[in-house]
Amino acid sequence: MKVDICDIPAEGLHLEITEDGNELQAIAGEVDFLILSPVSADLTLLKSEGEIFVRGDMTAPLKLQCARCLKEVEHRINSRIDIVYTLTPEHKAKEKELTLEDVGADYLEGDEIDINAVLVEQLSLDTPMQPVCRPDCKGLCPKCGADLNQRECSCIVTEHTDQKFAMLKELKLNKK
Ligand SMILES: [Zn+2]
Ligand SMILES: [Zn+2]
Repeated sequence: MKVDICDIPAEGLHLEITEDGNELQAIAGEVDFLILSPVSADLTLLKSEGEIFVRGDMTAPLKLQCARCLKEVEHRINSRIDIVYTLTPEHKAKEKELTLEDVGADYLEGDEIDINAVLVEQLSLDTPMQPVCRPDCKGLCPKCGADLNQRECSCIVTEHTDQKFAMLKELKLNKK
C-alpha cells in the first residue's frame, strides 16, 4: 500500500491496515523469518511543515527458527512505529541535517510513502536475533545432533574433553 502525501489531509490520515504476510515477505528479501498472516497495523499519518509523521502500532505473526534446537517457533511481534520523513525543498532539509540525524529522520523520495516497506523495516528491526522456542531450550547435541529436549544422548560433551580429543587426534596423526 502506498500513500500519496498530497492525500494526507490537515487533520491527518488514519489507516487501519491488514496485509497478507506473503506480500510483505516479497519486499523483505532474504531474511531468516517467515511473515505469517495477517499483519495488522493502525497508523496515523500527519503532515506538518516540511515533515510527515507516521505513527502507530503493528502486530505480526512470524515463524522463526529456534537458535538452539532449530525447531520452528511462532512469535508475535508487537511494534511501535514512529517515523519522521523530511520533505523537500532540499535546502531546508540541509539546514536541519544535523538535528534530523539525531532523531533518525528519513528523507522522503518522491511523493509517496510505501506503507508496506515501513512495516517490513520495522519487522526486521524488532525480530529477535537469537529466538528460542522456550527459555530453557537445551538445544542440540553438538556431537550426535540429538534434540536434548526430547532425550539425553550418551555423548560426553564439554569443551575440555573436546580439546583433549583433538590433541589426541593430532598426536596420532604426527606419529604416522
Ligand atoms: Zn529450541
Ligand atoms: Zn549426543
